[in-house]
This record gives sequence, C-alpha cells and structure tokens, in this order.
Amino acid sequence: MKPAPFVRHAPKTLEEALTILAEVAPQDGRVLAGGQSLVPIMAFRLAKPAHLVDINEVAGLDRIMTDGQVLSIGACVRHAAFHKSVVDNPLGALLTAVARHIAHYPIRMRGTFCGSLAHADPASEWCLTAATLDATIVAKSTRGERAIAAKDFFAGLMTTALAEDELLAEVRLPLLAPDARFGFDEFSRRAGDFAMAAALVTYRLQGGKIIDARVGLGGAEACPRRIADAEAALNGNAAGDKTFRAAAEAAAQTIEPLQDHQTSADYRRDLVRAMVRRALEQAAA
Ligand SMILES: Cc1cc2nc3c(=O)[nH]c(=O)nc-3n(C[C@H](O)[C@H](O)[C@H](O)COP(=O)(O)OP(=O)(O)OC[C@H]3O[C@@H](n4cnc5c(N)ncnc54)[C@H](O)[C@@H]3O)c2cc1C
Repeated sequence: MKPAPFVRHAPKTLEEALTILAEVAPQDGRVLAGGQSLVPIMAFRLAKPAHLVDINEVAGLDRIMTDGQVLSIGACVRHAAFHKSVVDNPLGALLTAVARHIAHYPIRMRGTFCGSLAHADPASEWCLTAATLDATIVAKSTRGERAIAAKDFFAGLMTTALAEDELLAEVRLPLLAPDARFGFDEFSRRAGDFAMAAALVTYRLQGGKIIDARVGLGGAEACPRRIADAEAALNGNAAGDKTFRAAAEAAAQTIEPLQDHQTSADYRRDLVRAMVRRALEQAAA
C-alpha cells in the first residue's frame, strides 16, 4: 500500500519548524525524523497525517554535546551515531553497547534517538535507557520550552507527555560516575526484532558492596521504568550470584507483564528474571 496524500514541509530553522508544527498539528500534522516507524505506519495507512514537518534539514538538531555533567542529544542524532563512544565516560560505552541491539544497520543509519522516545514503543532500547538513567526530555513549541523527567514522559503504551504541537528538541542524559559499571541484555526471537524483555543496570562498588544501583526494564510493561524493589535488593549487598538472583526475582515479581499472542505473562516474568540477572552479571565482569 501507499500512504494517504500528505504535504511535506521542510523547515531550515527550529523556529520555522515550530511555527509550521503549531499550524498543522490541529490538522493531524506530525514531525518526521528518521521515518523508520512513521513511514511504515503510513504505508499501512494506520496513520494518515495530512502534514509532515520534516526536521532533517533543520540546522543544529544533529548535535551531541556535553558540559561535563550531562550528554545532550539533538532531535536528528541517528542511532548509528552511538556505534562508537560519543563521550569519555562510562555512559559512552553504555550507549554503544545498547545501540547495536536496535533493529538492523540500515534502520540505525536513519532512525533517531529522540524519534524513538517520541514513538515510545515499550520495547525501545532508547526509551529504556532514558528511563533507567533519569533522562530529561526537552520539548519545544511556539509556546515555549519545558523539561520533562523521563518518569513523567512515558505515559502509557506508545503514549508520551508531548503535546501535539511540541517538538522533542533534545534529550539530556546525566553522565555516569567514572567507576560506574553497567550491563544490558534483551531477548528477541530474531536478531533485530523488538525485544520481548530487556534490562539495563548500572551500579558502583564500594568495599565490595553495591551502591547507586539502577535497574531498568523495557519490553515487559506498557512503559519502561526503574524497578525500586530490585534496586533495594542490590544496594548495600555484596555483588554476587545470591544478590543478583534476589534482585532478578524482585523485578520478576514486581512487574505487570504485557501479554500478547507470542508471550504469556508468566513467560515474560521468566524473561525479566533472566535478563536482569544477566545484565547484573555483565556489570560485575
Ligand atoms: C524492521 C524494524 C525494526 C525495528 N526494530 C527496533 C528495535 O529493535 N528497537 C527500537 O527501539 N526501534 C526499532 N525500530 C524503530 C526504529 O528504531 C525507529 O527509528 C524509531 O522508533 C523512531 O525513530 P525515527 O527517527 O525513525 O522516527 P519517525 O519514524 O520519524 O517518527 C516516529 C514517531 O515519533 C514522532 N517524532 C519523531 N521525532 C520527533 C520529535 N523530534 N519530536 C516530536 N515527535 C517526533 C513522529 O511524529 C512519529 O509519530 C525498528 C523499525 C523497523 C522498521
């Protein structure tokens, strides 16, 4: 099938993009970034936006910057930008480790970090990263700018706190402590498929004990999120099999699993248990 007719707008500046978006949003206008989710949906006519605001030619949106505290990722930064570390901090290696799990190489060359957040697929690796690391999402419109905490941004299955006239201009990820460890694992039926469950963990070690633990889950529930019970099972305890199994069990018991024709709730709980344990083991290695 071919998409329903639409008008493509190609602004060159952010101000122009926001003005056009404000005009066309009430007529089902949408932002076009990498097009790796929107274009297939349009081709199946599951979405029929009358206007697309193509942001690919907007100056400055492809920047990755750091001020020593935070890594800022602009709206047109592609997944492939993270094939190599973008910052001299454990966060750089974390992003590289996660990026290779996203779809396939050609999709990573076009799809964007911020587009993934706006699309908010529950299994998106970048949504999981943003939720686990407590990212700040910067939304801009002709009405102004607002910063949204990741925990408030993901509002439900493929639903976010973005208003229809808001452009997700950048995401800010806090740098990790220099001694932070991380682990990521996901399970999907075939390489490149969306994950049926994914876990991202970070922690530090102090005198052999875990501190500053973060355990994030994606693909398991409607929205990615940190799992406080699993983090509590880690903090203050020795890094090792017993602690990791306790945290993985806490995560498995806490979730309200998504169910679909492929995956029962019990199976997803099993996957979560395994993904959290493996991610923790990776971080310890
Ligand atoms: C075969 C296949 C496999 C895939 N596998 C994975 C996978 O394993 N993991 C994964 O995470 N993704 C996967 N994807 C999706 C891919 O990563 C997309 O690139 C991503 O979901 C959306 O980014 P995009 O830049 O392509 O956004 P687009 O497709 O351009 O837009 C997606 C949606 O977000 C909105 N949007 C985009 N950018 C903005 C913005 N800056 N401000 C406001 N709204 C915006 C659009 O209006 C649209 O509604 C897969 C895609 C395909 C086709």
